[in-house]
Amino acid sequence: MYFLSTRLDEVKGIGDALYAKLEKRGYSTVKDLVLAVPLRYEDRSHTTQIAELQSGNLITVRGKMSSARNFYKGRRSMQSAKVSDETGTVKLQWFNNPHVISNIKDGEEYYVSGTYNPKYKSIAQPTIERVFDSHGDAKENIHTGRLVPLYSTMIPLKQGTQRRVLKEILNNLRIPNDLELQHMRLVESFDEIHFPTTVDHVVLARERLALEELLALIRRSRAIKQEWKELHTAPAFEIPAKPTAAIPASIPFSLTNAQQKSVTEILKDISQSEPMNRLLIGDVGSGKTVVAGIACNLIAEQNKNSAIIAPTKILATQHAESLVKLFPDLNVELVTGGRKPLEVPKEPTLFVGTHAVINRLENIKPALVIYDEQHRFGVGQRSAALGLSYMPHILTMSATPIPRSLMLTIFSHLQLSVIDEMPAGRLPTKTWLVPDSKREDSYNWMAKNLTKNHAQAIVVCPFIDPSEHLAFENVVSATETFEAMSAFMRQQHPGLRLGLLHGRQKKTEQSSVIKDLYAGEIDILVTTPMVEVGLDLKRASIIVIEAAERFGMASLHQLRGRVGRANQQGYCLLFSNANGMSSKERLEAFSKENNGLKLAELDLKNRGSGNLFGTMQHGFSDLQFADWANLELIGRAQKTYEELPNDWEPLFATDRKTTTEIPLAN
Ligand code: ADP
Ligand code: MG
Repeated sequence: MYFLSTRLDEVKGIGDALYAKLEKRGYSTVKDLVLAVPLRYEDRSHTTQIAELQSGNLITVRGKMSSARNFYKGRRSMQSAKVSDETGTVKLQWFNNPHVISNIKDGEEYYVSGTYNPKYKSIAQPTIERVFDSHGDAKENIHTGRLVPLYSTMIPLKQGTQRRVLKEILNNLRIPNDLELQHMRLVESFDEIHFPTTVDHVVLARERLALEELLALIRRSRAIKQEWKELHTAPAFEIPAKPTAAIPASIPFSLTNAQQKSVTEILKDISQSEPMNRLLIGDVGSGKTVVAGIACNLIAEQNKNSAIIAPTKILATQHAESLVKLFPDLNVELVTGGRKPLEVPKEPTLFVGTHAVINRLENIKPALVIYDEQHRFGVGQRSAALGLSYMPHILTMSATPIPRSLMLTIFSHLQLSVIDEMPAGRLPTKTWLVPDSKREDSYNWMAKNLTKNHAQAIVVCPFIDPSEHLAFENVVSATETFEAMSAFMRQQHPGLRLGLLHGRQKKTEQSSVIKDLYAGEIDILVTTPMVEVGLDLKRASIIVIEAAERFGMASLHQLRGRVGRANQQGYCLLFSNANGMSSKERLEAFSKENNGLKLAELDLKNRGSGNLFGTMQHGFSDLQFADWANLELIGRAQKTYEELPNDWEPLFATDRKTTTEIPLAN
C-alpha cells in the first residue's frame, strides 16, 4: 500500500539509482509523481484491421505474433517480428532493442501501436503489449489498446517505465479521508488522469484537481487573513475626522469621487495598528498615484517613512518626478540601484524606486509599502523575514481588473478599493486598425498633427532588433522602424525629431533619451513595450503599435493609456500583418472598447484566461490545474470550502510560495 507521502524508493520498480535521479529533479514522493500529469494522450484505443492499414497514421492492431528474431545489420542490433490478424500480416521492426522481443512467444496475442509504412508493409519501432496475462485473463493495458499517457521528458523516467510505475502506484494508492467532490475522489481522479477511460473523464478528473487547488488557495487566503488580524504591529496614524481633509492644497486638481473614496479607505486602514493589506484597482490613467501619495504625505507629516516600489526604473523615476510636483512639501528620494545601506535622511521621506528599495527596507523602516503594477496580489512574507520588528501597511496598485468572484474567493485576504471613474475631461482615445496600404498616409497625418498641436508620439514595436527572433514572422523591430521612420520624416517632415529607446541601450543612453523626451526635445519616440507601464508624457497624443497582434488586450490597453493624459484627444494606431481572422477581430473589438474592465471580460470570454492575466506572467499563471478564467469553478470552490469537514487536509501545499504572494524580499 502506498500513501501520497510514501517515498518513491519504496515503490516496486524504483531502485536506488533511479530514485536518486528522480529526487534530483524534485520527484521524491508518490505525490510528486502522481501530480506530474501527462502532457498529452495518444489514442491507441481503436484497433485497425491489417488489411485496412494506411500510411502515415498512428495505428493500433491486434493480432498474433510470429517470427520474432534478433539479428545484426553491420554493427547495429536489430529486431523484427510479424503480427497477423484474420485480414493480413504486417512486419514489425526495432533497432537496438533486444529485450523487446525476448518474451514474445509464437502465436501469442498482442496490441501493436506505431506508424504504418506501406512501402515496406511494416511498422518501425512499435509499442507492443500482451492482450492476456500469464493466466490467460484479459490484461489491463497501459501502453497500447487504450488512451495512452505521454509524459514530459523532464521527468527522468522512460515513458514505458513511468506508465508501469504509475500503474503500480495507482493500483495500491490510499488517500485517507479522500473526499468525493464533483462525483470523484482524488484517487479516482489520478486514475483517470494517468489511465483515462475516455477523454471526457480526463476533463472531469482535471476539474477535480483544479477544485482541490482552489480549495488550497482559499484556505491559504483565510489563514493569511486570520494571521493578519492578529498582528497589531503596524504604526497607527492620526487621521482627520473627515479623511479627505488630508488631501493637501498643493494638488492642482480635485480628486474624483472614486479617488476620494479610496483615500478614505486607505487612511482608515492606516489609522489602525492591524497592518493594512489592500489592493487599489483603477484603469490606466484613473489616477492611482496621487491616492498613494496622499497616504505617504500624511505618514511623513507624522514623522515616518514610506516606500513606493515600481517594476521599472522609468516608472520609478517618473513617479518620483510627479510626486515631487504634487507634494512639494514631501521629501522624495529615488532609489534605483545598488545594495549598500542608504543614508537615510533625518527628515521623514517617501522612497520611490525599483526592487532596490526592498533591499533597504530594514534601513528605511517604512510604515507603508506600496507596490505599483506588480501584478501580484497578496501579502509579503512575515515581518521577521524582512528584518523588521513590525509589519508595514501594504498597498498594491494595479490596472488589471479582477472579477468580483475571484476577488471574494481567492483574494479574500485583501481589502479592495476601486477607482472606477476617470478624471473629468478625459477623452476616450480614438483607436484605429490601419491597413498597411495607408501607412504613409498615416505617417503624414501624424506628422501634421504633432506639428500643429506641438504634441509627441510613441511608436511601440514588439522587438528590439531583427536578429533576435529570426524564427518568427512579422518581426517588427524598434531599430528598423526607427531607421525607416527617420528616413521618411527627414524627407517629408524634416522638423520632427526622433528618438530611440530600448532595453539594450546603455543605462546612460536610456537616461539621456528619457531626459530629452520629458524636455520635449523628442517628437517621436520609437521604443519597445518597456514603456507599457511607465511613460506619463503630458504632450503625448498619438501612439502607434506595430505588429499589434503580438500584444494581449491588457498590454494594448496599457499602451493606449500612455496618450491623452492631459485631456487632449489621444489617438492609437494599430498596425498588424496578421492574416488570421481572429486576431483582426480582436483588434477591431479593442478599437471599439475603451473600458479596461469590459476589455478584460471580452478577452476572458473569447480566449479563456489567455489575456486577462497575460501581463501577469510573473506569478499569476503558475496554477497547475485551475484556470483563473473559470469563474464558475471558482464560485463552486467557495461553496465547497464552506462545507469541508474539519479534518480536511489540502492536497496542494498551502504554504508554497504562490503567485498570490508579493515578494517582499528578493
Ligand atoms: P494610473 O492610475 O494609471 O497610475 P496616474 O496616477 O499616473 O494614473 O494618473 C494619470 C494622470 O492623471 C497623472 O498625470 C495625474 O496627475 C492625473 N490625475 C490624477 N487624478 C486626477 C484628477 N482627479 N483630475 C485630473 N487629473 C488627474
Ligand atoms: Mg500608474
